[in-house]
This record gives sequence, C-alpha cells and structure tokens, in this order.
Amino acid sequence: MLGGGQLGRMFAIAARRLGYRVHVLAPDDDSPTGQVADIETRAAYDDLDAVSCFARRVSVVTFEFENIPAAAAETAAQYAPVRPSGELLHITQNRAREKAFLTKVGLPVTPHVVVRSESDLRRALERLGYPAVLKTAVWGYDGKGQICIDTPAKADGAWGALKTDQAILEAFIDFESELSVIVARGVEGEAETYGPMMNVHRDHILDITSTPGELRVPICLQAIEIARTVAEAAELVGVLCVEFFLGRDGRLMINELAPRPHNSGHLTIDAHETCQFEQQVRAVCALPLGSAELLRPAAMANLLGDLWRDGEPDWPALCAMGDVKLHLYGKKQPRQGRKMGHLTALEQTAEAAVKRVATARAVCRREVPFER
Ligand code: AMP
Repeated sequence: MLGGGQLGRMFAIAARRLGYRVHVLAPDDDSPTGQVADIETRAAYDDLDAVSCFARRVSVVTFEFENIPAAAAETAAQYAPVRPSGELLHITQNRAREKAFLTKVGLPVTPHVVVRSESDLRRALERLGYPAVLKTAVWGYDGKGQICIDTPAKADGAWGALKTDQAILEAFIDFESELSVIVARGVEGEAETYGPMMNVHRDHILDITSTPGELRVPICLQAIEIARTVAEAAELVGVLCVEFFLGRDGRLMINELAPRPHNSGHLTIDAHETCQFEQQVRAVCALPLGSAELLRPAAMANLLGDLWRDGEPDWPALCAMGDVKLHLYGKKQPRQGRKMGHLTALEQTAEAAVKRVATARAVCRREVPFER
C-alpha cells in the first residue's frame, strides 16, 4: 500500500482478515495504515530507491492517495503489478486531464474551461458567466485550491491567489443533490457497483452519506452505467469513485473521479455484503469480486477534528447507543477539518439512518443525552 491514511488502514484491515500480509510505504511513522499493517516503511514517495526496495518485497502494489508521483508508480511497476495502473493515476491527478478523458469517452462533465493565465481567466468568465469556481488542476481536494468567483470584482487577484500555472474554471452548479457511485472492477473485467450514495457536504468536506437515495430509477441507472463505463474505459483494476452533481433539470454531470475507495463508501463496511475495501483487496489480488448488495438502508457521518474542540468526545455515551458503529482512524492530532473517524447506522429507511447518525454525533459532542 502506497499511502498511510485511513483508506489504507481500512484496506489493510480487510486484507488481513483475508489472511494477507500488508506492507505500507508512507512519509510518516505510526500512520493510520502503519498501525495495522505488518510492515511499515517510512519514506517519501519520491524516494525511488525506497519505492523500489518496497516493491521488490511485495506481490502487488496499490495506493490510497492519488497524488503519488508518476515516477513512484513507474518504479514500483518494474517489480510488481500496480493496480489501478499508473496511467489511470496520471489521468486523475489533473482535473483538466480527467475532464478531457471523460469528454473523449462521451460522458457528461461540468461545463469548464482550462485556464493558464489571468487573461485566460477573464475570457473563461465571459464564456461561463458568474458564479463560477476556479480550481487548481493538481493537488486540490475537499475544497482546497478552489475559489468561488461570484462577481467580476472577485475575479481580481483570484488567479494570483491560486498560485498555480494550470487551473480549470467551472460553472457553479446549482445542484439538486450530490451523489456518487463506487465501482470495483476485477482483472477479468467483471464489475460491481455501490450506490448511488447521496452525499451532503459541509464547508466542501463530505459530512453525511446515505443510501439508497430517493432518486428516480432512470437517474440511478444512468449514474451506475456511467461509473461502469468509466471503469471500462480506464481499464480499472481496483476501486474507483465517480462523484456527480445532479442538476435541477435532472441532468447528471461528473464532478470528479477518485481511483480508490472513497469516503462516500465507508458505510459499505457495515451495510453491504462485501465492503469497498475488501473489493479493492480482491481486485488487486486478482480474486473474484464479492457481492456489493446493500443489506439495509444506511448512513455515515464523518467525525472531523472539530469534534475534539472541547476535549475527547463522549465515546462511552456513543457506545451505549448500542447500534451505531464507531470507526476511528488512530490519528493523534485532531485538527479542524481533519477526518478522524466516522459513524455508521443501519435503519429501516435511509432517512431514519441519517437521523440516527446525526443524533449519535450530537451525543459524542455531549449536545444531547444518548437514547437507545
Ligand atoms: P471538489 O473538490 O471539486 O469535489 O469540490 C468539493 C465540493 O465543493 C463539492 O462536493 C461541491 O459541494 C462543491 N463544489 C465544487 N465544485 C462545484 C461547482 N462547480 N458547483 C457547485 N459546487 C461545487
């Protein structure tokens, strides 16, 4: 596993359950993945000697973090299969490249223009109008590297503030909802999908996911079909998430891809026959995929560092709720906006599950007394 975060941790837990041994390479010690892996190598991703040493010792390489340098993926591929491939990693590392790939495959993306200078930005604003969102082409996530430009005055200085040489300007989408489909694809080309997952963001960070959504059946089928098409076109071996905006006119647009398990799929651990992390293990280890069937309507709430503002959250009260599943990632520093863990609840309906995880999170914050 290249990458030491929570996605690698949940992958490693699934892999070890299946009897595999896990070796992680990450730049930090005692990382969330390292804590549950068999072997932890601390090295920078651009330390190609360390990467080749690591890749020589494993049977297959995967990643949990899409900003692994291309050179690291290429180096690793000399010694072991890298799944998903370095080519897919390369496409998804750059928003402009990703959108060009999706457009070429004939899939709907948000209206956008590639911007390389202040004057490009002015022309792009004339084309797309206001409001629009300027996003760095590389290294953006959870709203980082993004500026919303809602008036011409806001455009002044926006290009300089982004400190980049390539960006995309996207039309601001007044969406009805945000959703995602996660697709797992094996070495034989067989695929399983999860969702659509219904996603609610707060401050650009995923807050709550629930499934199934109250979407019209043709929209669900279209989202699933798009995810399958992306997986096929990208020759995916592994897990990939397609994030969508659903416009008020009923049109689906792809916002972005993630070539790995996704935060909106965390509820699959408790709510689906086979979770997204086990599918990643199965796919990259060339095993048949498991069933992705949803067992019960479910919801997931993220636990961000903010929850620790007044000290340790009230875990005993949460555990006393009995039915809500707590997942913590082993991170020591609860910084604002940092993903520290999540909660999952299963109920008769997705709506009831959302209420349950929201209550559970309030119980952690000591805002409400717990209720069984
Ligand atoms: P991103 O990092 O591109 O996924 O953006 C994070 C979040 O910001 C998205 O999930 C949306 O909630 C919001 N966002 C990003 N781009 C747009 C857009 N073009 N229109 C409206 N909201 C957006």
